[in-house]
Amino acid sequence: MIFIIGAAILGAILFYFSYQSRQNFSCPTCGEKITTEYLDAKNCTMCGSDLKKDH
Ligand SMILES: [Zn+2]
Repeated sequence: MIFIIGAAILGAILFYFSYQSRQNFSCPTCGEKITTEYLDAKNCTMCGSDLKKDH
């Protein structure tokens, strides 16, 4: 039982850090919202413009 609780807590922590590492970008040209797990900005998948960070 303790092992199951420990695994659940560990999973929650890993999920939390995984969620925190995601970056939200919005396209300044067409307004497309894009979430990426990578820190570097990418180009818009819709129009190809450079993305800027939302937050
Ligand atoms: Zn765009």
